[in-house]
Amino acid sequence: MAVRITDLCISCDACLDECPTASIVNEDDNPTGEDTYYVNPATCTECIGDHDSPACQAACPTDGCIVWDLPYDEEHKAHFEGNDLYVLGEDAANNQEFRPEVSMEDRKAGDVDSVIE
Ligand code: SF4
Ligand code: SF4
Repeated sequence: MAVRITDLCISCDACLDECPTASIVNEDDNPTGEDTYYVNPATCTECIGDHDSPACQAACPTDGCIVWDLPYDEEHKAHFEGNDLYVLGEDAANNQEFRPEVSMEDRKAGDVDSVIE
């Protein structure tokens, strides 16, 4: 990770086609079973190399719906494993790209302070 879609999602579809890495699925394919869209932490690149900021968040009409999350890497593996917010494959904690300018303090796993500005 990356970013996470919270339960504020209204399933409007605006973000789906904006993702350059096809990391977003709709509620029908959300592996957690939640009635929201879902970001795959194993493939989200935070849009590095494609956009200056997360394109999904730019497209989303719902304030606070898409938030920063911790990097999907070995150091933060414990955050993702065994967490109901994610369904992980064998590629868990694959040292996915993340924006170093976003502090760990700002990546509070989806609390109100991690909203992408
Ligand atoms: S931040 Fe970029 S790569 Fe990640 S889910 Fe959003 S649009 Fe896709
Ligand atoms: S744009 Fe926002 S509200 Fe709409 S589906 Fe995506 S995450 Fe949900």
